[in-house]
Amino acid sequence: MTDHKITIAIDGFSSTGKSTVAKQLAKELSYVYVDTGAMYRAITLYAMRKKYITKDTFDEESLIKDLPSLNLKFAFEASRGFAAIYLNDENIEDEVRTLEVSQYVSRVAAVSKVRAKLVSQQQLMGLEKGVVMDGRDIGTVVFPNAELKIFMTATAEERAKRRFKEMKEKGQEVSYDEVLKNVEERDHLDTTREDSPLVKADDAIEIDNSSLTLEEQFNTLLNIANDVIAKPN
Ligand code: C5P
Repeated sequence: MTDHKITIAIDGFSSTGKSTVAKQLAKELSYVYVDTGAMYRAITLYAMRKKYITKDTFDEESLIKDLPSLNLKFAFEASRGFAAIYLNDENIEDEVRTLEVSQYVSRVAAVSKVRAKLVSQQQLMGLEKGVVMDGRDIGTVVFPNAELKIFMTATAEERAKRRFKEMKEKGQEVSYDEVLKNVEERDHLDTTREDSPLVKADDAIEIDNSSLTLEEQFNTLLNIANDVIAKPN
């Protein structure tokens, strides 16, 4: 049996638990985990701080002009057990997870120049394989030749329930209705944008985890991954 490193692309709708299972898989396989959503969130936080984006306005030109000066990286944080996102050397891991950032991020992620910058950085991060990357366009745009592509789905209500619970646990002041609305809005924007809309790659394996426990989901994916890894290249 030849074990070889592969690229695992996990795409799907917001709050389908992609990052949870991606982190578990990466740990089990000793692969690198890359949360591409965090990168779009980081650029969004920057645009919000600069007031380039507000509820009603979006100064895309200014954001595009600043893109070359924005340096994103991940650095492992022992207390969290995973890598946190940094923007120009500032740890912004907690700040990018707020509902406010979630409310703006899909508009920023629709800007082609933003996508081009992040996609090329993501491709470099996965150059050596042995990577689990989650997002919306990993199997279609970032790594169209990934050996394993997963597309995760769950009902909007189930996803909002999970996200709401997670945010409450972090002490964030949100209501279930707001979270559900955000999940639905992002689904709409992410699937209808012109550049790299969220679609299932033809060769992706679809997993609806609405009624799967985390353990069942992990075991399902690990078995699939191990089968692919064991196949000769
Ligand atoms: O995965 P997460 O929910 O953190 O992603 C936040 C947003 O970033 C998504 O709703 C989507 O608009 C954008 N995104 C994207 N392409 C990716 C990852 C995230 O457009 N590869």
